[in-house]
Amino acid sequence: MGGEVQCPAGCGLMEYKKKRNLKIRAWDPIGSVFYLAGLILIVNYTEVGSGEYHPGAIFGMLLFIPGLYFSSLVTTDLSCGTCTGVILESKSIDLKLKGDPLGLSLNKAKYVREALASSTEHSEHDCPDCGNKMSHIIVPIERERRAYEDPLLPDAIADLTTKSDRVKLDGCKECDLLWFKNAKRERKLSMDTAIIPKT
Ligand SMILES: [Zn+2]
Ligand SMILES: [Zn+2]
Repeated sequence: MGGEVQCPAGCGLMEYKKKRNLKIRAWDPIGSVFYLAGLILIVNYTEVGSGEYHPGAIFGMLLFIPGLYFSSLVTTDLSCGTCTGVILESKSIDLKLKGDPLGLSLNKAKYVREALASSTEHSEHDCPDCGNKMSHIIVPIERERRAYEDPLLPDAIADLTTKSDRVKLDGCKECDLLWFKNAKRERKLSMDTAIIPKT
């Protein structure tokens, strides 16, 4: 898409914003090595429930934190400053909506494109690029359960459990773009820990 883009919700012009996504890994020569080495050290030297920090685990954190930062994905996406809606275009769809490296889940980009192509439900909004009505889809995901969502679970277990969830979005298959009503929905689907399990 070139030039000025109007927010599908009718707020006015959207803006390209550069964002670093700490929950999405991207390959970076140094960042990825730091991230993985740090993670391995932390896992090896952390005793669950001991409350004490082994020097190896602390060293791991010193590698992990900058590694996490430098190996995270940076994309430039259209955002609406008023409704916080987000548009993902082809390149960002491919970068942000991936499967997991172990192949246990479906590729989210592929799933979303196929769902848009077969969707019969129209969005209430027009595509900001071609002006036709967008399609509406609901994407089933599993994501990590946060401790506050289930206060009875101990943290260590809560981290390991997942929660079934759904993300609603609109899109135009001809223009290969996705429209999220707000940034929260986009982040929920994009983060690496949100997956579409294989059935
Ligand atoms: Zn808007
Ligand atoms: Zn379109």
